[in-house]
Amino acid sequence: MSCFCLKKARPKTKQELSTILASETSFTVNEVEALLCTFKKLSSAIVDDDFLHKVFDMFDIKRDGVIGFGEFVRSLSIFHPNTSEEKKIEFAFRLFDLRQSGYIERQGLKEMVLATLTESDVTVPDDVAEAIVDKTMEEVDSKGDGKIDKEEWKEYVAKNPSLLKIMTLPYLKDITLAFPSFILHSEVED
Ligand code: MN
Repeated sequence: MSCFCLKKARPKTKQELSTILASETSFTVNEVEALLCTFKKLSSAIVDDDFLHKVFDMFDIKRDGVIGFGEFVRSLSIFHPNTSEEKKIEFAFRLFDLRQSGYIERQGLKEMVLATLTESDVTVPDDVAEAIVDKTMEEVDSKGDGKIDKEEWKEYVAKNPSLLKIMTLPYLKDITLAFPSFILHSEVED
């Protein structure tokens, strides 16, 4: 697992980069530029949560141990409300395939259950969480081999679409509104 490091974006190519990223993701040019503010703030943040490490590890598409701004925007776009369910399902599978084994194993499923509970503001004792994980594994693992393959995962999400709630960050839809100071300083027209 690589450390959570963010590469500084090169200011010279900022506008060019924003245009490219906007064309490849669910964000507009203005929103990409607003994200640059977030990216810069994140650069100085320390993340010591294991699951977040895994998330940022996946953001590191080029696998060089650092997250470039392009990687940041492309990865964050997966969580955009307008991004297709298919892309979200695919990303979630890779996200919870913790050991890159090609399967979601029990530990990965546990991370997912915990993330879902947190998303719903529900706190449960550890033994209850374990019981939910066992019950969920039973439901998803239709072939009964103790791990979840992509086919089982897709079938399960189709029946339980609320699972994808953790793959969507509603505020990404109005990213520029979340950064009002940015709008005043924007030089780029959408
Ligand atoms: Mn299975």
